[in-house]
Amino acid sequence: MNCPYCGKQESRVIDSRSLDEEVRRRRGCLACNKRFTTYERVQPHDIFVIKKDGRREGFRRDKLLLGIRRACEKRPLPTGAIDKFVENIEAELYNMGKNEVSSSYIGDLVMEGLKKLDHIAYIRFASVYREFADIGALKQEVDSLAVRREPTPANQLPLPSSEAVSSVTGRKRR
Ligand SMILES: [Zn+2]
Repeated sequence: MNCPYCGKQESRVIDSRSLDEEVRRRRGCLACNKRFTTYERVQPHDIFVIKKDGRREGFRRDKLLLGIRRACEKRPLPTGAIDKFVENIEAELYNMGKNEVSSSYIGDLVMEGLKKLDHIAYIRFASVYREFADIGALKQEVDSLAVRREPTPANQLPLPSSEAVSSVTGRKRR
């Protein structure tokens, strides 16, 4: 770490404090004696995502966040719930300690979490991610949710019935 005043590299640590995920250090430059502060953050190892077609790309948190935001658009979620959700997914991926994760594994993690967070967001995400071939497959998913009869949190609307799904998509039940 170079001194921001004179550019020399040697400094001594005057004070060190652990914050949540980083360490804050007060430093004194050995050349010019000026003081400055550094923050050190643990850099998790890189994770590569293996896509369905076999391509490999670096894991990007912003991309994951975007997909989840889209699914949760206009849903009555508490402030910060989406960020927290993405943080948890990210933490789970890094905790696996692997360098490569399949995109379908990440997708399943997201689906599992969304199922608990908001059913509508879950269905939206699933319909994009699973690329439901037809309304029958989507309905099956909705029905399997209903069958499970998980207690519905107070801030979550009940699941739409199959009829409601049919009317949204403009198709009749087969
Ligand atoms: Zn200096």
